[in-house]
Amino acid sequence: MRDSIDLFSALERSSFRQRFKLGAHERAYLDSKGLRTILEHAAGFIAERLAPAEPRNDGKQTPFRGHPVFIAQHATATCCRGCLAKWHRIEKGRALTPEEQAHVVAVIGCWLRKHAEQASSRTVRRSRNMPLQLNLDVDSNSHGGASESRTAHRSKRA
Ligand SMILES: [Zn+2]
Repeated sequence: MRDSIDLFSALERSSFRQRFKLGAHERAYLDSKGLRTILEHAAGFIAERLAPAEPRNDGKQTPFRGHPVFIAQHATATCCRGCLAKWHRIEKGRALTPEEQAHVVAVIGCWLRKHAEQASSRTVRRSRNMPLQLNLDVDSNSHGGASESRTAHRSKRA
C-alpha cells in the first residue's frame, strides 16, 4: 500500500485526476449531510463495489456524478481495482483487507475535506469582486436592526 503523502503528490501531477471537482449538487449534499455521514456512505460503497476479489463491472462501477464520494474516488484513483493497483499498489484479484478499505476511505476523506474548503474559499473570492464588505454590512445591520426593533416593540408592548 502506498504512502498517502506520496500518493497525493502523484495525484497532483495528474491532469486527469485534477479535473475532478465537486459539482454544486455534490457540494450541497456534502454540506447537508456532513463529512462524517458521507464517509459512512464511502465505507459502504467501498465494501460493496471495490472490496470483493472480483467486483461487479470492475472499471465501470463508479459513476461520475451524483454523490461526492464518487467524484472523490475518481480524483483519488480509488474508482476501480485497476486504478487501485496502479496508484495505490493494492493488487487485484483478491478481496481488500479491512486496513485497505480504511485506507481508501481515509484518502477519500482527505480529498473531500480539502475540496470542500477550496469550494468555500472560491465562493468568498468570487463574491469579493462584488462589494462583499458592503453586502455583509447591510446584512448584519438589517439583521441586528430587525431583532433590535422586535425587542423594542416587545418592550413597548410589555
Ligand atoms: Zn478506475
